[in-house]
Amino acid sequence: MSKSQDTDTKSVLVVGGAGYVGSHACKAFAEQDWRVTVYDNLSTGHRDAVRWGELITGDLADESALRRVVASNRPNVVAHFAALTSVGDSVRDPGAYYRNNVTGTLNLLQAIRTEGPCPLIFSSTAAVYGDPEQTPIVEDHPKRPINPYGHSKLMVEQILADNDAAYGLRYVALRYFNAAGADPDGEIGERHDPETHLIPLVLRAARDPNFSFSIFGNDFATPDGTCVRDFVHVSDLARAHVAAADYLLMGGASTAMNLGSGCGASVLEIIAGIEQALGRSMPKHFGPRRAGDPPALVAGADKAKELLGWNTMYSLPTIIASAAAWERKARGG
Ligand code: UDP
Repeated sequence: MSKSQDTDTKSVLVVGGAGYVGSHACKAFAEQDWRVTVYDNLSTGHRDAVRWGELITGDLADESALRRVVASNRPNVVAHFAALTSVGDSVRDPGAYYRNNVTGTLNLLQAIRTEGPCPLIFSSTAAVYGDPEQTPIVEDHPKRPINPYGHSKLMVEQILADNDAAYGLRYVALRYFNAAGADPDGEIGERHDPETHLIPLVLRAARDPNFSFSIFGNDFATPDGTCVRDFVHVSDLARAHVAAADYLLMGGASTAMNLGSGCGASVLEIIAGIEQALGRSMPKHFGPRRAGDPPALVAGADKAKELLGWNTMYSLPTIIASAAAWERKARGG
C-alpha cells in the first residue's frame, strides 16, 4: 500500500509546480486538501511561487532523481507542467524543445511506470491543432502543428496514448488555449523573463511610456484584422487539473480535452479592455505578423464540461483586472 493510500489524504506530485500555471494548480489542489509536492528545476519558475507544498529542486533530464521523488512520494496522481513554452524560441532552438518537452517527459513516464505507477495529467496546448480549419476547435479537429513547440506537445500526447495501450498508464491531456490573469487573492501571478505574452506586455506599456510593444499583424482574416485568441483564467485552468485528477482516480479513461472559454477576443479588443480597466489610452504600433501565429484560436470546450463538470468562472474583464492587480503588486505599486 502506498504512503498516500495509508491515509485519506490524496497526494499529487506537481512537476513544474513553480511556474505560472503549475503554481496556480498547486493552490487549487491544496484548497481541495491534496498533499502537494513540487519538482521543478527553477529554470523559468520561481522558488517563492511554491507556497503549497514541499519543493524538490531537480531536472526532467535526471531520471534517477525523478525515480527517487516518485518512489518516496508515491503520489496518487502526477501533474506535469514542466515544459519550454515559447513558440518563437522553439523555431529558433528546436533541439532544446524536443529534449526538454519530449525526452524529459519520457524520463518522467519511465519513473512513474517503475516507481508509481499512477495516472498523469499533462499540460498540452491549442498549438497541437496548428492553423485551424474552423473555430471553435473541437478535440477531433486535425492536428497539424506549425511550430516545434506544438509538435513536441503532440508527440507527447502520442507517447501517452501508446503508454496507456502498452502499460495501462492512464492520463488526461489538457489542451490550454491562452492562459491569462492571476490568482484572485494576489498571491501568485504571471512572471516570465523575458515576457512575451500579450496581456502583461500591454499592461507594462500602459504605465511605462518608454516601453512599447508591437501588434503582430493587422491583416488577418478576422473582424478587425488582428489575431483572435481564447483567453482563459489561470485559476480556471488550475481547477480543471483537480477535476481531472478526481476523474482519473475514479477510473476515468485516458483522454485529451480543450480548456478554453469558447469566446474569442482580438488583440485590439484586449488592448481596449486594458485601456478601459486602467482609464487611459495608449499608442498602438502595428508590426509584421509573428511566425507561427494562426489567425484565430477559439476552443470548443464541451468535452471538459461533460467529463469533468468544468466551466470557466472568470470573465475577460476579471482576467484583465486580476492581471493588472498582479502587475501593480509585482512592481511594488
Ligand atoms: N501579440 C502581439 N504582440 C505582442 C505579443 C503578442 O500582437 O507583443 C499577439 C500574438 O500575435 C497573438 C496574441 O497576441 O495573436 C497572443 O499572444 P501570446 O504570446 O500572449 O500567446 P500565444 O497565443 O502565443 O500563446
